[in-house]
Amino acid sequence: MLLLNVDEIRRDFPLLERVVGGRKIVYFDNAASTQKPIQVIKTMEEFMKNHYANVHRGLHTLSQEASKLYEEAHEVLAKFINAYSWREVIFVNNTTEALNTIAYGWALWNIREGDEIVVTVMDHHSNMLPWRLIAQLKNARVKYLDITDDGYLRYDLLDQLITEKTKIVAFPLASNVLGTINDAKRIARKAHEVGAIVVADGAQSVPHIPTNVRELEVDFLAFSGHKMLGPTGSGVLWGREDILEEMKPFKVGGDTIKDVTLDAVVWHDLPWRFEAGTPNIVEGIGLAEAARYLARIGMDNIHRHEEELVRYTLKRFEEFAGEVKYYGPLNPADKTGVVSFNVKGLNHHTVGAALDLFGIAVRTGMHCAHPLHYRLGITGTVRASFYLYNTLEEVDYFIESLEKIVLLKGRFVEQVPSHVCTGT
Ligand code: PMP
Repeated sequence: MLLLNVDEIRRDFPLLERVVGGRKIVYFDNAASTQKPIQVIKTMEEFMKNHYANVHRGLHTLSQEASKLYEEAHEVLAKFINAYSWREVIFVNNTTEALNTIAYGWALWNIREGDEIVVTVMDHHSNMLPWRLIAQLKNARVKYLDITDDGYLRYDLLDQLITEKTKIVAFPLASNVLGTINDAKRIARKAHEVGAIVVADGAQSVPHIPTNVRELEVDFLAFSGHKMLGPTGSGVLWGREDILEEMKPFKVGGDTIKDVTLDAVVWHDLPWRFEAGTPNIVEGIGLAEAARYLARIGMDNIHRHEEELVRYTLKRFEEFAGEVKYYGPLNPADKTGVVSFNVKGLNHHTVGAALDLFGIAVRTGMHCAHPLHYRLGITGTVRASFYLYNTLEEVDYFIESLEKIVLLKGRFVEQVPSHVCTGT
């Protein structure tokens, strides 16, 4: 039994009426990006039709209205993650930009030769490569926390990995491939013992489970709007106010300052100091509407809904008697609605292309987590990822389609694109 009234929810999503492969699309690519409810679409349209102007600058009515709505959007997001203040909420383009902002605003100025940065082998490249570049620039070292074979972080290694040299510990709150929900507090407490700052990549957790930055005990949190029913070009960097006050802006220019003389700069208040240039105003307002929508449904309910979908999928996978290999924690309560797998004897891209013929959208490849796939000894996976609008009936249809693919295995022309990474 599913907890959410999915029929009602689905009516809010026009795109779910699309027909692909002769039937209504089964959209299982939510870890890459989610569909948009009519409430978000209408809010953005309404704003552009009636209130649009640039923010912060004007004394005229429209600019005042736009500024108010844009500031309120920060407040909505602050509430969504239980931040202490909306000043801690910086609007960015996406998770990648948020993480680079920390790398170039904090790490570049604080990491010294010989320092160490700890990340995990399950990190998305967006939470790995910025640290690697900083380490290269500063002659510092990046160390990696391994995983268990069933997809959990090796917490037992934290004591030996995190030392007095550690200055940053970065990890995903949830893996985009395995779905594993990681124990932020456990990592944060160990990192704080040695005075390191803690960076949490929330791209795959904030859209799917309740987020409370006061309880996570991390110093920074990054997430993307487009993965939580919001538009592209929207996302959040949350940081502890005392750290943000000390941090340098990564991008500088218009709106980042209070005053500039030829000799000096007085940076603007938070969060504007970090939102250089004209921000994505329409998108920020759209993201706030998405957060309101999710809050109305309830993040706990969404998590439990996904948990049921995963439980059912894994149960039905058992019918394949070894033909389908699943990667990640077997306990659905420990993960978000991400199910990555391979079909024995078929390339993951072939499976993805075949599923598309049935109107099922999944993602295939290394999901911008190459080191994780190498750790698992594979060159890619098929990833089905669920959200609040997915149903058990869709899972049934997905399993039936997969059965046909397994049955017809010998007949497929293998699809192996020349590029190995299809994100994201
Ligand atoms: N981190 C994780 C865990 C992700 O899943 C993704 C997107 N797949 C990102 C970071 C990057 O997100 P974006 O492309 O929105 O910057």
